[in-house]
Amino acid sequence: MSGALPSGLRRAIELFSRLPGVGDKTAARFAMHLLSGDRALARALGEALLDLDAAVVTCERCGYFADASEGRATCAICADPRRDDRVLCVVARVQDLLGFERSGAMRGRYFVLHKLLSPLDGVSPADLPMQALVARVADGVEEVIVATPPTVDGEATALYLARELRPSGARVTRLASGVPHGGDLEFADQITLGRALEGRRAIE
Ligand SMILES: [Zn+2]
Repeated sequence: MSGALPSGLRRAIELFSRLPGVGDKTAARFAMHLLSGDRALARALGEALLDLDAAVVTCERCGYFADASEGRATCAICADPRRDDRVLCVVARVQDLLGFERSGAMRGRYFVLHKLLSPLDGVSPADLPMQALVARVADGVEEVIVATPPTVDGEATALYLARELRPSGARVTRLASGVPHGGDLEFADQITLGRALEGRRAIE
């Protein structure tokens, strides 16, 4: 069908289809909806996306997101004085951090890796932000809770972090199992996450 489509529409479909979980058909449905039903939504989306790039920065301290319009490069969590500086929770993705925040079970601070070791996907130790993490831990952290998912990649990453952080003297612990299958912290409920936190154990 693509040959008959105006180039602007083709481009929109192609861009939508690059999003995770969006196939060609869904991408086409999105683009058609914006064109034939809701052009105001198309404009609002466009503006929001431009804003996303310009107004949201990555927190230089933890890897979460910060509001650039407030003129700082640290996020609201890093800036919150009520947080426990001695506990650092390392997560793979921002969604996992948000899962913890929703649960209210984590009073410490975070560090977002944004990736996991994965030989299959070509992610090696050199691709992990180890320098930043080691520096972060050296800044008064007494316990590092590794909350990477209980998958092959998540476990390999946890072991690697424990080894690399050993010289820091901080206790490195791992969440107890019990997070949902596949380890999607994003969707774990408050009780499950609370239990996983309480049952955490040192990584040998
Ligand atoms: Zn931060």
